[in-house]
Amino acid sequence: MAVNADVMTFPLFINGKWEQSGNQEFFDVFNPANGEVAARVAKGTKEDVDKAVTAAREAFDHSDWKMMKPKERSNVLHSLARQIIANAEELAYLESISSGGTIRRIGSNDILQMADLFQTLANFVLQYPFSETLPSPPFPGPAHNFIWREPIGVCAAITPWNMPMLIACWKIAPALAMGNTVVIKPASYTPLSTLKLAEILSAELPDGVLNVVTGSGSEVGEALVSHPKVDKIAFTGSTEVGRKIMALAAGTIKHTTLELGGKSPNIILEDAELDIAIPGSLFGVFLHSGQLCESGTRLFVPDHLHDIIVEKLVQLASKLKPGNPLDSRTDMGPVISKKQKESILAYIEEGKREGARLVCGGKEWSVPGCEGGHFIEPTIFTDVTNDMKIAQEEIFGPVLTVIRYSSVDEAIKMANDTIYGLAAGVWTKDVNKAYKAARELQAGVVWINDWHMLRNDAPFGGYKQSGIGREMGKHSLDAYTQLKHVHTSMVPEIEHKSWYGLLFSETDEG
Ligand code: NAD
Repeated sequence: MAVNADVMTFPLFINGKWEQSGNQEFFDVFNPANGEVAARVAKGTKEDVDKAVTAAREAFDHSDWKMMKPKERSNVLHSLARQIIANAEELAYLESISSGGTIRRIGSNDILQMADLFQTLANFVLQYPFSETLPSPPFPGPAHNFIWREPIGVCAAITPWNMPMLIACWKIAPALAMGNTVVIKPASYTPLSTLKLAEILSAELPDGVLNVVTGSGSEVGEALVSHPKVDKIAFTGSTEVGRKIMALAAGTIKHTTLELGGKSPNIILEDAELDIAIPGSLFGVFLHSGQLCESGTRLFVPDHLHDIIVEKLVQLASKLKPGNPLDSRTDMGPVISKKQKESILAYIEEGKREGARLVCGGKEWSVPGCEGGHFIEPTIFTDVTNDMKIAQEEIFGPVLTVIRYSSVDEAIKMANDTIYGLAAGVWTKDVNKAYKAARELQAGVVWINDWHMLRNDAPFGGYKQSGIGREMGKHSLDAYTQLKHVHTSMVPEIEHKSWYGLLFSETDEG
């Protein structure tokens, strides 16, 4: 495709300024709603990664950034939140034209969530136990002991394409809150909003504290996670790449947190309020065209309510409107790419081949005004068994699988029968049943009578192969610090340091 001469161009962002990549090469970023080139972005190299890590290392080792007082740091975080709001329109636009996310969701949810995360952590920083004093022990002798929580150093953040800005903030905000420096590599489909975000935030930060290197996972991503001067990796993406990252991190024993895939179970109990459970379950799976890691993709329904639930699901799903994500009336935008569209359609074919019954959608969606875009109809399969590929593998598209159950125990057993454990949900009017299910479901978050209810003051992350560690909430701050124990002896006379006798059998009495 010919590149329009006035197409936006983004270099790398290193050490507080825009930088050309060493090879001066660019790659195209496409708008998934029409297939056109949305921007051209620098194709980073290993040398660029080294440059960014060196800048981040320098900013960490040789500036006052890591020693900033909590009050001052809290003020910085508040000002970063203000910058996000002040630039909301441009950020939301850049995110929408590259990720295909609707401007309605990005503008009214993601941007506010991002700003709120910085504010929430700004408040946590003021109460964070950076230094704790331990009681003086009677043995082996009087001493003064501290536990200090110190920043880890240079953090490499690697992000996916589905909610690139929000997920970038899940890493940038706690890293900065604890005094670390960051090099971020966004997904190649969606680097625009992260680059702009880095420029905006860096106006409030010392040079080198926040850097972005764009480029492929295999070159830039791998160079970053194996760089000897990187201390921590925070990765969000597929479980498959997560395994690779963990292996690469082992080379230099880096602190590693992983937010990975999901195939989240959603259970409607027989006493559920169906007028809420049905739209709620569709909200749980079709928001952002099914491209959310914690989407409720496996819906478990009681045998005797199956037909009525399916009928209502199909009725409501058929009303969802596709369209240009920049149009605030659009319910569902495109999926990220032609490749992703083909992968989703292949799963739909596989579902049919495995014997599941297609009751809604299942095809490419043609959207007037968005010719060349990658749209897929909201798709619902019934007669699914939990062992089918469409019930076990992450499709990452608008595909709901409905599975019957005859007892709640059976539903919970099937719900947990997956390698994943990111989210789960249950719909019921009975709080006791709800908490029993929540206790038994193996997932990092359980929603009762709702979905997608993430909070900036609550931890988010996966059980099982959905990840290691948690983001958001005060717990996320721990993942960006390391503990140091400092012991000060209060025993000045050697004759009272009886424990030296563990080594010296004789003492000089003379
Ligand atoms: P992906 O794993 O293909 O890529 C994620 C990032 O890793 C990208 O920036 C990519 O360039 C980079 N990468 C790829 N190979 C690499 C390598 N060898 N070394 C270093 N970096 C490498 O994921 P995706 O397709 O961008 O995103 C979709 C996946 O992300 C889904 O599986 C989804 O469930 C998951 N996800 C998880 C969460 C969560 O919080 N748990 C949130 C959003 C998305």
